[in-house]
Amino acid sequence: MGTAEPQVASGQDVKVVSGGQIVANAQPQEMTDGFQLVIDALKLNGLDTIYGLPGIPITDLTRRAQAAGMRVLSFRHEQNAGYAASIAGFLTQKPGICLTVSAPGFLNGLNALAHATVNCFPMILVSGSSEREIVDLQQGDYEEMDQLAVAKPVAKAAFRVLHAEDIGVGIARAIRAAVSGRPGGVYLDLPAKLFAQSIDAAAGKSSLIKVVDPAPRQIPAPQAVKRAVDLLKSAKKPLIILGKGAAYSQADADIRALVEKTGIPYLPMSMAKGLLPDTHEQCASAARSFVLPEADVVMLVGARLNWLLSHGKGKTWGGKGHKDWGGHKFIQVDISPQEMDSNVRIDAPVVGDIGSCVSALLTAIGSGWPKPSADWIGAITERKTKNVAKMAETLAKNPSPMNFHSALAVVRDIVKANPDAMFVNEGANALDFTRSIVDMYKPRKRIDVGTWGIMGIGMGYCVAAAVVTKQQVIAIEGDSAFGFSGMEVETICRYNLPVCAVIFNNNGVYRGTDVNPTGGSDLAPTVFVKGARYDKLIEAFGGVGVHATTPAELRKGMEEAIRSKKPTLINAVIDETAGTESGRITSLNPSAAKKK
Ligand code: ADP
Repeated sequence: MGTAEPQVASGQDVKVVSGGQIVANAQPQEMTDGFQLVIDALKLNGLDTIYGLPGIPITDLTRRAQAAGMRVLSFRHEQNAGYAASIAGFLTQKPGICLTVSAPGFLNGLNALAHATVNCFPMILVSGSSEREIVDLQQGDYEEMDQLAVAKPVAKAAFRVLHAEDIGVGIARAIRAAVSGRPGGVYLDLPAKLFAQSIDAAAGKSSLIKVVDPAPRQIPAPQAVKRAVDLLKSAKKPLIILGKGAAYSQADADIRALVEKTGIPYLPMSMAKGLLPDTHEQCASAARSFVLPEADVVMLVGARLNWLLSHGKGKTWGGKGHKDWGGHKFIQVDISPQEMDSNVRIDAPVVGDIGSCVSALLTAIGSGWPKPSADWIGAITERKTKNVAKMAETLAKNPSPMNFHSALAVVRDIVKANPDAMFVNEGANALDFTRSIVDMYKPRKRIDVGTWGIMGIGMGYCVAAAVVTKQQVIAIEGDSAFGFSGMEVETICRYNLPVCAVIFNNNGVYRGTDVNPTGGSDLAPTVFVKGARYDKLIEAFGGVGVHATTPAELRKGMEEAIRSKKPTLINAVIDETAGTESGRITSLNPSAAKKK
């Protein structure tokens, strides 16, 4: 930055010279620079953790942030740092900060930025970039890329800061965009030259902004609340669906009160499991395929009618020919007015933040709410009892080799005994079976593949979950899913985090049984090295590796990991014939659907 002022370190005197004569000793001028202002702006806003990967031009930023007391967690790949930042945002309601180098590092982080936006998690991807003058003329700079333009389509907002005195505004805008309204991923572009710009320290300090009320409450309109309550009151077979927006809102006590005061059965979406314990008598998860088509009024709280809920129509909801087809009425509680009617008609939209909406609904409901009919509750209980008994029978079996069910019976017990542990889950079958078998008991304990059903969140989520909550972390990983972030076991060991990752190893994607039809020496595309020993990976970095071929060995390994709090990786050998192609979403896979 062109500045006429003398640049001196603090404490030095400045000689003011006139006609060769020293005429005065002026006050020293204290200077600051772009690096420092970024750090100060983050700290001023309570953002004290960076998930990233050092390199040009942000290496010094990571060093100086650490020196300034921030927690700087270095990953082995930006995608994992980004996933960590995104889930930190979900868990804390503050934007998770991911820091990357320019072009390739930025692109590696972009996946997580898109993930944050799609999942409504607040996150800021901060990337160093090359010089505007060269990038815009496409003159071939080091790691040249117009990153702002690339980020825009997948970000909720994107900003670039060119002058040190604008860093405060840039970070304030990024924070507001990430956490206000529907949260999302924000991109902040910081060109290399910005970091070295030097400005007067006092001016720099006064340019920083401590964001006041970054996520203002949004109070629902009284008519909207009344409309919703009237509709709910008219229901004969009401149902509440809780989504991860409800979990994010941290309105746990009011959400529980709403469910319990109305007596309405509820379904938790996967990351809303534990908002009320899965063992709650009103939880209808074990009768999901019964309640979705049968319900007449459905209240969605922080859940979208996207593919995960079959878009609110079709077979899952009764389909053609069902006596109640088209009979569903929907109440939707959401912060985004544009979410309404996105798939089917929403009869009673309640737009606002979930805390305010649920509290207004509670007031409107008052006391003496008529509980749902005994017929509706009885029919659900009957299905639940039948399905739970069937599952208990399957879980009690002890086949050799171990299968998903016998392994998950162990995991279920361990989670029950450790309800405060964070629980990370990804895979295909490893995801689907785990979600339905392992009960959660507390809010925001289960974090998983989210809206896109992506693979690769595993070890990044483990790092953030351990760092943010300081609790034990348990991860249940498909062997394929684990491969996307496996190298981060070094990160887990380096920071000595209490993570117990269990790899459900069935030798491949979906299963390990496909064969190469040509008889050639290449394995089928879905098959991995047979009998791989993932447990050896973590041993390379000083962690504990466990090879488990029976439920008893798995139990012992997990219990020991939780007792010792040491980074542990358990290679749980699962029958390679177990599992179905694409798990529960076979219908979306043209090849699997054809084979059926
Ligand atoms: P799930 O996958 O669990 O069904 P979704 O991600 O589809 O959940 O839906 C979450 C919804 O919650 C989004 O529509 C989002 O706008 C909404 N949301 C997120 N945070 C809040 C909040 N604090 N208040 C109200 N709605 C919220």
